[in-house]
Amino acid sequence: MLINRAIKLHSVALYLVCVLLLGLLLPIAAGMVITLGQERIKLEDELSEFHRETLKTLVVSTEDAMLSFSPEGVRNIVGVLLKDERIVSIEVFSELFDLYLLRVSKQIPDHQFDSFSMRETVVKDGEVLGYVQVEVDSGWIIPRIEEARNHIILLFSSMFLSALLLVVPAIYYKILKPLRRLTRQADILSKGELGVEYEWRGKDELSMLGKTLEDMRGKLNENFNFMKEMAVTDELTGLPNRHGFSAEIKKIMHLSKRYKHPLSIAIFDLDYFKAINDTYGHGVGDEVLKDFSRLVCSRIRNTDIFARIGGEEFVMVMPETSIEAARLLLNEIREVVSGQPFAHGEKVTTSIGVTSYSGVEQLDQLLEAADKALYQAKRKGRDQVVVHLR
Ligand code: GH3
Ligand code: MG
Ligand code: MG
Repeated sequence: MLINRAIKLHSVALYLVCVLLLGLLLPIAAGMVITLGQERIKLEDELSEFHRETLKTLVVSTEDAMLSFSPEGVRNIVGVLLKDERIVSIEVFSELFDLYLLRVSKQIPDHQFDSFSMRETVVKDGEVLGYVQVEVDSGWIIPRIEEARNHIILLFSSMFLSALLLVVPAIYYKILKPLRRLTRQADILSKGELGVEYEWRGKDELSMLGKTLEDMRGKLNENFNFMKEMAVTDELTGLPNRHGFSAEIKKIMHLSKRYKHPLSIAIFDLDYFKAINDTYGHGVGDEVLKDFSRLVCSRIRNTDIFARIGGEEFVMVMPETSIEAARLLLNEIREVVSGQPFAHGEKVTTSIGVTSYSGVEQLDQLLEAADKALYQAKRKGRDQVVVHLR
């Protein structure tokens, strides 16, 4: 399961593991075969050399014994030579007497020698005296080759393991782990989750790539938050716009309904605003709208919402406020607004319609009711607060 997760088919991990195993195993296996072959050749050469040297020694030391046909003369040297485990048998034959001077061979019970012989003619002053023949055990090299093979396997296995111990953690920590982290990071980004931060400390290529992705995420997140903010904010006044207001009022209505807490909603409309635009220009009209927003905001509670929902139309949501308390507060605001000059040096008044939420109305119905009250305030002569009566 864990391995499945770490090594997916077609993944870089699988590719690296295969390359690593092949890259290490192939040269190590080739090295083993070559070293073993050389070891065998060395041992075979050593045995042949020994074979020749033994023959030479015998030739030199049997000349006299052959001339006088004295087996005693060769017994000593043959006895010494036979002590060597490599020698299986020695024959010393005299041509002069057509007889063996000596013919000895080792007998080991239940053991069959895998042997080969070499013969050397003994010549003195141009006369052939006889020959010596030595048979050596070519099986002698087998246990030595096995021993050498075990050493070589041990040596190359430890080389392989040391290489693995060095290379595997390096590949894991420097390539596979950062790569998995990068994949996760890109995955999260592709799902549009811009709030998840990824810290990269290294200076290697993958860390730099991770940092670039992180920078990208940061900038996208900034832009996205800015756009989100813009989508719910009125650019001129900085107040929530209709969209922002709708998003927030739903939660407040839900809480008011659930806990049966009072909630009042009012709509403001500046009186004769068109005349300000017409007389002083659109720019001054904008300044008046901003001044009006600041003024109202300075009079309301943190929990109240004041939003711009149209040209010179605003809405105010007052949680935990009965219709009577709302009327008093709104009247105060209205008086503050009408009591001071605005950007163009003249006073501005506002008409306000207010209603309360009983826990059954929809938002549209509440706004409609507040709008009706506002209409009445306009009809009654403006600069006043009218409560919608059910
Ligand atoms: P009433 O007392 O009946 O509300 O009269 P009013 O003149 O305020 O109402 P009306 O609906 O006739 O005019 C509203 C004006 O507000 C018209 C429009 O040009 C202006 N307006 C809307 N949005 C903006 C804005 O963002 N900036 C400025 N300067 N004026 C705006
Ligand atoms: Mg209007
Ligand atoms: Mg108006």
